[in-house]
Amino acid sequence: METVLFLSHADAGKPALETLAAAKALGGTLVVGLFGADVQAFANEIAGCRATKILGVAGADFAQARYASDAAAAEALVKASKATIVVAPATSRMNRIVSGVAHRCGGRADTHVTGLAGGNITRWYYRQRMESQQSRTHRPWFIALDPGCHAAYAGAPGTATVEAVSVVLPAMKTQVTGVKAPESSQQTIRPDAKVLLVAGAGWTKKQPDGQTHVPEAADLIMGFLNATKASLGSSKSLVDLSGEGQAVLPFMSHLNQIGQTGSTPRHAKGLSTCCHGEEPHAVGWRFIGERRAINLDANCGWARGKADVLYVADAFAVMRKVNELLASQ
Ligand SMILES: Cc1cc2nc3c(=O)[nH]c(=O)nc-3n(C[C@H](O)[C@H](O)[C@H](O)COP(=O)(O)OP(=O)(O)OC[C@H]3O[C@@H](n4cnc5c(N)ncnc54)[C@H](O)[C@@H]3O)c2cc1C
Repeated sequence: METVLFLSHADAGKPALETLAAAKALGGTLVVGLFGADVQAFANEIAGCRATKILGVAGADFAQARYASDAAAAEALVKASKATIVVAPATSRMNRIVSGVAHRCGGRADTHVTGLAGGNITRWYYRQRMESQQSRTHRPWFIALDPGCHAAYAGAPGTATVEAVSVVLPAMKTQVTGVKAPESSQQTIRPDAKVLLVAGAGWTKKQPDGQTHVPEAADLIMGFLNATKASLGSSKSLVDLSGEGQAVLPFMSHLNQIGQTGSTPRHAKGLSTCCHGEEPHAVGWRFIGERRAINLDANCGWARGKADVLYVADAFAVMRKVNELLASQ
């Protein structure tokens, strides 16, 4: 029987709960391994998960994401658990250490896994155009599960008993002194939102009256986002426009870009506006549940099987009306 270790930093939030649920569904003997400044609060949150034991590495040295201390903690937890399968949430903090820790433990790692079932993992290739199922006989097997791929664990909290695992820390040369994020006047990327609104370059193009209407476009988009708390995505063309010196939407950055060279978000619904729906963009919609698009052009890419519903209409007029309806609710 496999010993399955759910391994995470204790502040990983929803991705950790999703991974815990996926690890439980594997069957076998479940062990939890947590590290961070404090692990007790999260251990209590998942106290009902029926793990045979909860192992913890806690302390100020493990507060910040740093390869040396994170990898040392994870290695100690894996060795103490005697796990044959290690399942971790694919947060940036875990992704950074998972391969190195697998190497230290004589294991093999698979990252960007999107599903776990029947001894197989699922991964996507060529930017979500091909799906594969794989399994490994080598143990320990480290699996980093991408966020948004499994329903989150939702058991009742309790009081957990955490078994402390000791770690011999190596010399630590790195200190995190702050975070530098791209300038953006508003926080518009909301991975947990039900709806994704995508804005394309059309919002900044000349409209039928021969003029551009960028300030109105910004108001309409922000009006919708404020009313619905939707997440904001963009086409590459729109985020690239700032580099070309054109009028752009002030709250948009390259982090908003969806697509082949952008992100592949997972929202229940998506609405594309003023975006042509070309393949390098639409491939980023692979995991959006229901897709709708508004475009003036009945022959745009969305019309070719890429959207469930295409409104051949002026997005300015449609979004103005949508925002009016939202305001009157
Ligand atoms: C290797 C490679 C990687 C790429 N990666 C990405 C990627 O990750 N993401 C990405 O997005 N693109 C990517 N691209 C670029 C992609 O091919 C397209 O060029 C880009 O997505 C086009 O952006 P757009 O649809 O916003 O702009 P446009 O092609 O300019 O389309 C604007 C659309 O707005 C519509 N429109 C204008 N006014 C209105 C209105 N009032 N109401 C409704 N509709 C209106 C027009 O009909 C038009 O369809 C990549 C390209 C390559 C070659």
